[in-house]
Amino acid sequence: MPSAEHRRKAQKRRRFLHATGRPPKLDTTEASRHVRWLHDEHGMSMESIARKAGVNASSVSRFYNAEDGGGGYRAVVEKVLRVRPEPPPNVYQAAHVCIVGSQRRVQALFYIGFNGRVLADELGFNGHISNLWRLLEPHRKVLSAVRRESIAQGFEKLQDADPADFGISNNLQSRSVGLAKAKRWAPPHCWDVDTIDDPKAIPEWTGVCGTPQGRYIHERDGVLPVCAPCWTADKARRDETGQSRYRKPEFSPAKLQALLDSREWSAAEVGRRMGGDIKHTRESVYRWLNGERKPAPRSLDRLASALGVMPEDLEVE
Ligand SMILES: [Zn+2]
Repeated sequence: MPSAEHRRKAQKRRRFLHATGRPPKLDTTEASRHVRWLHDEHGMSMESIARKAGVNASSVSRFYNAEDGGGGYRAVVEKVLRVRPEPPPNVYQAAHVCIVGSQRRVQALFYIGFNGRVLADELGFNGHISNLWRLLEPHRKVLSAVRRESIAQGFEKLQDADPADFGISNNLQSRSVGLAKAKRWAPPHCWDVDTIDDPKAIPEWTGVCGTPQGRYIHERDGVLPVCAPCWTADKARRDETGQSRYRKPEFSPAKLQALLDSREWSAAEVGRRMGGDIKHTRESVYRWLNGERKPAPRSLDRLASALGVMPEDLEVE
């Protein structure tokens, strides 16, 4: 699954940075200013800035939204600073590109209550609703680069907007939401800038969709219906284990010990890195190690990030 692969990569990178203890970061004030200039003054979308820079769109939007300088990787900062404003329409913009991300953007906007009339205006269809519907036909594979760009720009503007501000009544909003749900379309928050254009990516409803834990989280948190990749993963789990119910994995003192050993950290050291009251945290770490207690979910998150791993890495397989 691409999402699991993505998490593994992020995890590997965090481990590497913790192991080396010197993340190669630069101040990002200038990169933030540059991205805002490209976006606000030249109308480039995050996606198109990222494509031109050859970096993840999430990095670009992080720069865009950064309040202060913060840190960014040297290579990423430098690539972003090299991006020049998009030239006027040319052959490239007329080229046909994959339609998947554009369809997902339109579908996601329906899910939060936008309707065809407003989307046909805001996404660059000059009000031609029939063209908007045609874009959503399942057999369509490509669209023009210029249209993809106008949809991406409109999506960035509308994904956090209120359809009521565009004159869409509650009644019409419910109709759009109903349509989107019936068609199993996914809302904007199920995608991120790195997955929405990846044809192999699946919408992320639970944070662990497509894994054996997914169905459990869907049902526990009432994120229904359970998505197709989660059903598939749950069936595979049942076939493999013969157990009808998913059991949440338990915290593993042995794994915590192994992670501390590999870093040559004491309980006090990881306690210090977790922050908070040092004496208290250190005592907790001792109790987790000797199996006297299990970390509460929030402590488990803090422990995992202090170690540069995912919480799952601290659970029994
Ligand atoms: Zn799911």
